[in-house]
Amino acid sequence: MRKPIIAGNWKMNKTISEGVDFVKQIKHLGDNTDVEVVVCVPFVSLESIKKELKGSNVKLGSQNIHWEENGAYTGEISPLMLKEIGIDYAIIGHSERRQYFAETDETVNKKVKTSLDHGINPIVCVGETLEERENNTAKEKVKVQITKALEGISEKEMSDIVLAYEPIWAIGTGKTASSEDANEMIAFIRDIVKEKYDEEISETVRIQYGGSVKPQNVTEIMNQPDIDGALVGGASLKKDDFTELVRF
Ligand code: PEP
Repeated sequence: MRKPIIAGNWKMNKTISEGVDFVKQIKHLGDNTDVEVVVCVPFVSLESIKKELKGSNVKLGSQNIHWEENGAYTGEISPLMLKEIGIDYAIIGHSERRQYFAETDETVNKKVKTSLDHGINPIVCVGETLEERENNTAKEKVKVQITKALEGISEKEMSDIVLAYEPIWAIGTGKTASSEDANEMIAFIRDIVKEKYDEEISETVRIQYGGSVKPQNVTEIMNQPDIDGALVGGASLKKDDFTELVRF
């Protein structure tokens, strides 16, 4: 019932020409309509990659978005600019944005709202630190993040949102949460959604896992009942790895 979604997060990698060259090689992956395939690329590459993806079912996403349409926000990119390019998704609240660029649950919520208002589907990231996992406060942390991110979001809007559980200690470290632990947290997130909305919404919202997903562990992760996809950094940069991930 929930269509799997594999999204590559290129982070600050690949120049425009490298990115265009890469999507030339992977755009056929959209032919398999059982899986939704997304590439989230640097802002400067969005327009060229959008052109390269013409006729392909591979979707395009940004890695951030600003909550205002325009104004004195030096260095930021607005939803209107992204909408004009025709992107499908925006990653919001990635832990690297929270950690290095001081994003908060409040700014994440504003970005989720603006994204939805402009017809761009948010991929909303949450996840705990290693310390929080070790002192058993991971669920508390994730509950706060989810609750705040979804503040003021209507039932109808929930069908346009993708959630991503990304334990910070597993991102780019080679350490993966066990598929059972990842599933347990994702089932917990589904419960939070159920409490706030209803069972139907909790059963239809798509929730990805992210954190060192690679060809070697993707099948096990995707076999978990509550996990609907993967948000992938490192392994999304290589054609063969990304291809295997999409074929999980
Ligand atoms: C990410 O960037 O969201 C991520 C999960 O990175 P990696 O797959 O490299 O751990």
